[in-house]
Amino acid sequence: MDERGLKKHLIRLTVITIIGSILLSLVGVGLIAYAQNAAIKADHTQMESEMLDCKERIFKQMNKNLQILSTLSKAFEVTDVMDSEEEICSIITEANSANDFISLLFIRKDGYLVLNTINSGTSDDKTLEDLNEYSVDAIERAFQGESVASKMFDSAFYDEKLFVYAVPVYKDGEIIGVLSAGDTIEIFTDIANGDFVMDGSGYIHIINTAGEFLVRSENTIIKEQYETLFDSPYLSDEVKKDVKEALENNESCFGPFTYGGENYHFYIEPMNLNGWFLFCASPIWGTQLSSSNIFVIISGVLLLILILFNILLYNGYNQVRKYTKKLIQMAYWDPVTGAENVLKFDQDFQEMLSENKDYSTAALNIHNFKSVNDLFGKEQGDKVLGYLKTIIEGNLKEGEFFCRSSADTFYMTLLDVDEGVIYERLRKIISGIRNASVLHGDYSYELSLYSGVAIRGDREKALVALQSIKNTHQQDVAFYNKEIHEEIRRKNSIESYMHLALKNKEFKLFLQPKYSLKDDTLIGAEALVRWQNPDGSYRYPNEFIPLFEKNGFCLKLDMYMVEKACKQIRGWIDAGIKPIGISVNQSKLLFSDGNYPANLEHIVKKYDVPPSLITLEILEGVAENDVTFLNRQIEALHEKGFKVSMDDFGSGYSSLNMLYQLRIDELKLDRGFLRKASGGDDKRRQTILRQIVMFAKTLGISIVAEGIETQEDKNNMTSMDCDYGQGYFYAKPMIAEDFNAKYMV
Ligand code: C2E
Ligand code: MG
Ligand code: MG
Repeated sequence: MDERGLKKHLIRLTVITIIGSILLSLVGVGLIAYAQNAAIKADHTQMESEMLDCKERIFKQMNKNLQILSTLSKAFEVTDVMDSEEEICSIITEANSANDFISLLFIRKDGYLVLNTINSGTSDDKTLEDLNEYSVDAIERAFQGESVASKMFDSAFYDEKLFVYAVPVYKDGEIIGVLSAGDTIEIFTDIANGDFVMDGSGYIHIINTAGEFLVRSENTIIKEQYETLFDSPYLSDEVKKDVKEALENNESCFGPFTYGGENYHFYIEPMNLNGWFLFCASPIWGTQLSSSNIFVIISGVLLLILILFNILLYNGYNQVRKYTKKLIQMAYWDPVTGAENVLKFDQDFQEMLSENKDYSTAALNIHNFKSVNDLFGKEQGDKVLGYLKTIIEGNLKEGEFFCRSSADTFYMTLLDVDEGVIYERLRKIISGIRNASVLHGDYSYELSLYSGVAIRGDREKALVALQSIKNTHQQDVAFYNKEIHEEIRRKNSIESYMHLALKNKEFKLFLQPKYSLKDDTLIGAEALVRWQNPDGSYRYPNEFIPLFEKNGFCLKLDMYMVEKACKQIRGWIDAGIKPIGISVNQSKLLFSDGNYPANLEHIVKKYDVPPSLITLEILEGVAENDVTFLNRQIEALHEKGFKVSMDDFGSGYSSLNMLYQLRIDELKLDRGFLRKASGGDDKRRQTILRQIVMFAKTLGISIVAEGIETQEDKNNMTSMDCDYGQGYFYAKPMIAEDFNAKYMV
């Protein structure tokens, strides 16, 4: 990923985080609202059940008191105290001292009334008229046979609200009086004040139909002591309306209120007793926060997380950017020259393609750059590359780019498609380098560049064009075309198959006889390779030997041919035929291998063949290298018993000096030499040829004339005192089996 990609990625990540946070906030709010609803429902259920429970306990308490009264009434039933007012007074006094009623009252059927109160003792001077109307009402109902509790009333002798219980007193199945006890409603406060309500978080009041507080819980949240529910400003009008309706209809109801910024809910449950209601209130879980508040808080928290995350992200981004820059530097730049590398080039190339521009790709290479490194050292070599980079850079137009791929190969993208224009531009770069006298030392070295161009083509094609002129030195710019491509394709197909072909024994031994020109006797043969195609046809050496020379496969093939020749000689010996010597063509690559003589010896020994029957033909080009080393190899070959011949003499830059220097056994005059010589008009050349033959003879080197095609050729060479001849005049190269049938019988 490059920096731009990284930035894009980070922006995307931030947007995703923001959207994610908003979604999370919404989900959070939803979840909290859901949880709140569930909590409210659960609270309501709990309130209902707790209120029923509370009601039951209050009833139990009241029943207990009524029970006490009933038991006391029995005292009147079983005794005959009715007639003794004194007795009645003492029973009432005693009874109340044993119980804790505010007042205890007995009223006889005839209206005689005894009252004991905790503040003023027992008296019998009161009448019904002195009593509160609710108290009277309760007494009257008790006379009707009911056991009742009265409504609340303000007591005349006690400064708290009171209510009374009243039970009938029977004698012989007849109501003879009523026993009534006054009590404050405070008896329920321990129930109401208990911290058991709503797991300790709620409280209970007792109210009446008018919404008046009859019992106030100590735990009450609303500290102001309002007379009635309706005086409280904390209930909304609407809620008050609902409550009023419920109280009037003796029904239960739920409702909300807010106090001190917190939300509460309440439940009103009718007690079905004297118009009393239980009022239970408790905080609503989590509702001090409204939905919008929750959203703000969650969003805030998430925003905070987001900010933190982004700070981390930003820091990370900076770190990553720093490292990415370094990595990009490493990944995209060539450390030797500071030019871009192939990776970056290919990216730029793809980008350029998308812009639909007209373009060409050029590959540039320095001829024999290896020698620069060898002669001047790697440091100088790097300098040359840096220099080439500067020159290329200076010749680029806006929008063009280049890279160094490996070693001394550079690629350029040019925004030109005209061959002439491109050629001129490349020539400028090539001569720029040539004119650079960068390399001086013990040697001065002229740098020469060559280039392959693919118009509207890619690196691969430019490289194909470049390779087509590698090592030629005749052309410095080549344009990619179909032929070049075909040639490379052919080359690739040969290279991919050659090893298998050798294994499949597709390389065949052909032999061409060598004759003595003097007496036309067979004196030897030359081994020539043919590559047999699967269809039986042959490929000639010129189609593949130059390639094998380049890729090194000749090293294998030539030794294989030596082995074939040895095997053939062994065949003749085994068949009892007098063997002839065979010359085998050898690549110059072999001559630079120190193990070469030993390897050859190994083969002749394997077939037990006299090494003198093997002549190794080398091309005169081999002498371009180190002559001393070459002579040492020739000497080593001589020591092992082999003969050495120089092939194609006269085709290249042969010199008599070379003949003098190299200790060869045989000289093969190139066919071209003969052709020109036979023309007759080139007396000068004939003279030179004669001189060469003479010179060679003086050095004890035997001469073979190649390409004897006609009697005239033969006569000509004979007249020059040439010893041996080889050519179509005698026979064309033929497969070993044919050669054997023809000559070796
Ligand atoms: P060379 O060693 O000079 O071989 C002689 C070439 O001249 C052979 O071509 C042969 O067929 C051809 N020739 C012989 N007499 C005449 C003639 O009268 N007229 C004409 N026009 N040509 C004649 P060939 O077999 O095509 O081989 C070409 C070259 O390939 C050889 O030249 C040799 O340099 C190379 N070569 C052949 N076999 C091998 C091999 O096994 N290893 C290596 N390294 N090179 C080989
Ligand atoms: Mg030859
Ligand atoms: Mg030859």
